[in-house]
Amino acid sequence: MMESAIDVPYDLAVIGGGVNGAAIARDAVGRGLSVLLLERGDLAQGTSSASTKLIHGGLRYLEHREFALVAEALHEREILWAQAPHIVWPMRFVLPFVPEGRPWWMLRTGLWLYDRIGGRKILPPTKRVKLQGRMGLQSDIRRGYEYSDCWVDDARLVVLLARDAADRGADVRTRCPVTALRREGHLWRIEAGGETFHAAMTINAAGPQVGDLLGIARAPKPATLRKVRGSHIVVPRLHDDPRALFLQLSDGRMCFAIPWQHAFTLIGTTDSEEGADADPPQASEAEIAYLLDAANRHFRRQLSRDDVVWTFAGVRLLADDGTGKPEAATRGYRFELDRGSDHHSAPLLSVLGGKITTHRTLAEAALERLGLMDNAGWTATAPLPGGDFKPDGLDEADNLAPLEQEIHAQAQNLSRATIHRLARAYGTDALGFVRGDMGRAVGQGFTEAELDHLVTREWAQTAQDVLWRRSKLGLWFSAEEVALLESMLPTAS
Ligand SMILES: Cc1cc2nc3c(=O)[nH]c(=O)nc-3n(C[C@H](O)[C@H](O)[C@H](O)COP(=O)(O)OP(=O)(O)OC[C@H]3O[C@@H](n4cnc5c(N)ncnc54)[C@H](O)[C@@H]3O)c2cc1C
Repeated sequence: MMESAIDVPYDLAVIGGGVNGAAIARDAVGRGLSVLLLERGDLAQGTSSASTKLIHGGLRYLEHREFALVAEALHEREILWAQAPHIVWPMRFVLPFVPEGRPWWMLRTGLWLYDRIGGRKILPPTKRVKLQGRMGLQSDIRRGYEYSDCWVDDARLVVLLARDAADRGADVRTRCPVTALRREGHLWRIEAGGETFHAAMTINAAGPQVGDLLGIARAPKPATLRKVRGSHIVVPRLHDDPRALFLQLSDGRMCFAIPWQHAFTLIGTTDSEEGADADPPQASEAEIAYLLDAANRHFRRQLSRDDVVWTFAGVRLLADDGTGKPEAATRGYRFELDRGSDHHSAPLLSVLGGKITTHRTLAEAALERLGLMDNAGWTATAPLPGGDFKPDGLDEADNLAPLEQEIHAQAQNLSRATIHRLARAYGTDALGFVRGDMGRAVGQGFTEAELDHLVTREWAQTAQDVLWRRSKLGLWFSAEEVALLESMLPTAS
């Protein structure tokens, strides 16, 4: 085992490059700490790229009286939109009324609360809508409510949090699995990716693997570490409306049908404790059938298994006591703090639960739990890389137009679709790498210049990193284009 070249202890080591680990690393470095972030594979390779991709309060958690959590999450919507308007944007959701679902008064009351407890300033309020065959829905679905939440490119959010952390001085290591963790004097000694590091404090943000890390550290484990898998399917687009649908199912559960990448609809999610230990998790045939049934109850176009172009699954570690249905379990978070048998040793703080939406407040709470209060709250107003432009209202096309014009002025050969994709993914960062000659074309508007940016600035190493996390071009690339991309990666030579 190699000691790292200059083994100066870090103030804080964070294990896990998902949304929570990356957010904690970013917040901590901005508070003046020296920070090491260790991810065993690629950033966001776990749950944080397999979410429904909503920045939302979680309307249905009101049913479980999670008012504080819903309010905290709702407040985050406009904060996150303001700091990353390229990868976060408002979306309207239609909640149709179906006789087998919740009564009308209950929907109205829930949405009345949803509009009021979350500090909504810009996002438009709920309104009633007539459906009657609109949005591709069956003709017996006649009315519903339309409300606001936001959408996020989850994997890019994680990468940009890590980028901001690194730009501020954090040491971000990917493909660096932690294999040993033990106290040595007043420090943690961490073996990861063939190197040894030391840190005064460690945060375990390993998502579904939090328990494994506690085992490696020989630290006490909470009595229950409950994991629930959620799966999604992607099908050809079911309607041309920009709004998403929030569907009530006959078993009382709910699922989303969200327009995605112009050509697709994303449908999910399930909640299953079976198979949640698989690493990586996969959507089961039973879950795929369940989601197809849910869509077929609501949409005119009837889907079959052959319509499913992609599936993905993620596992949540829940912060509850392990009783009750998984869909009713809290989506809140809690921490376990271990200070060793003498209660004064180097701390190990483990993160249980959470949502993409609450990553920023979770990071604040985690650092507060360790007593790190200097410069607290700075992340509320700091833009993420590429997000230093201000949305000028709710029209997303208008918001991106000035940036798209700048990209076009720098690289006039790019198609409108590619300019739009670059503005969306990179925001003003795109101006750093677009130019007249973008180098070799890989496919689907993806070029060598973009690949260079991903490799040098965003830790991309494999075609998977590029196609399924930094972009979602994986749904569009042919086998030949994937092979060409693989041959152009630095690891290929
Ligand atoms: C199906 C589903 C849908 C969801 N939808 C939403 C949504 O729409 N909106 C929302 O707000 N939230 C949503 N969530 C919740 C959200 O996705 C999670 O709360 C969040 O992604 C958890 O992030 P994390 O950083 O804690 O875990 P992860 O993203 O799993 O990150 C943990 C990381 O630790 C790494 N790791 C593990 N072991 C080691 C090791 N030994 N050494 C180094 N690294 C290690 C892993 O590789 C992984 O990258 C959803 C969750 C699921 C399951």
